[in-house]
Amino acid sequence: MLTPSPIRWPAGYRSAVALAFDVDGPSGDAMLDDSLLDNLRYFGEGSYGPYRAVPRLLDLLAQYQLQATFFIPTWVVTHWTSLCERILAAGHEVAYHGHRHEVFFDLTIEQQHAVMEQSRTIFQQRLGITPTGFRTPSGDWSTATATLLHTFGVKYSSSMRGDDRPYFHPAATGGNGLVELPARWDMDDYTALAYFEDPAFPSGLDRLADYRAVMHNWSAEFQGYHRDGLFWTTILHPKVSAKPGRLSILEGLFQTIRQYDDVWVARGNDVADWWIQQYGQGGNK
Ligand SMILES: [Zn+2]
Repeated sequence: MLTPSPIRWPAGYRSAVALAFDVDGPSGDAMLDDSLLDNLRYFGEGSYGPYRAVPRLLDLLAQYQLQATFFIPTWVVTHWTSLCERILAAGHEVAYHGHRHEVFFDLTIEQQHAVMEQSRTIFQQRLGITPTGFRTPSGDWSTATATLLHTFGVKYSSSMRGDDRPYFHPAATGGNGLVELPARWDMDDYTALAYFEDPAFPSGLDRLADYRAVMHNWSAEFQGYHRDGLFWTTILHPKVSAKPGRLSILEGLFQTIRQYDDVWVARGNDVADWWIQQYGQGGNK
């Protein structure tokens, strides 16, 4: 006998899932700063994501009638604008992920402000949207970042790791600030599937996980969260996991999720809105 979910989810759902994909493309200093002329091979590893992997992923999501969140550096938005329009047209959410995938932890608050301002302008001018979600490109930030994001109208972050339920960051003025939709490093597809020859990743040994094992692991994680009525999200990169053969991993995961009619598959902003509505008053959950 399952115990009831500790969380009130909408419409009697037992758990919530926000499938999230980071479309980093070739952004990030290692790929951009000296890559265009000197390191085309590495650049190509990244650009495969928006060129080839995202369209394939969009088709699979449509097949399973799943809506997701795409965190996209705005450098990628400027170079693949029509692809981003297609993502939005399919009903998915597009949200902040830096401009060139900056490591926020290394930036001053003024530099973080500049990145956010540039990103907001590009999203508004290129796509006509003002995102309400943010995932830090580095998985880390400084303590002032959450307050800064709030001033840009960001409602939620999916950057931290410390819970398996949404929670509120404290606001600078007291009370509730941003909603956090926590993820986990081991739900990042790099852990099992990344392989780059130069620079070497993983370093020291050529290895890739068995695709069936990866599908089983991810499905088991979802099922555990669902059993306990929690919130589950992913840090998946199309350039890593939406390659032709690896699509079997994602398809197996989607099939597992679709076996349950009491899981709420939602975009990050839907979950954040729900959390604010349900728990925004009267302190943290
Ligand atoms: Zn990223």
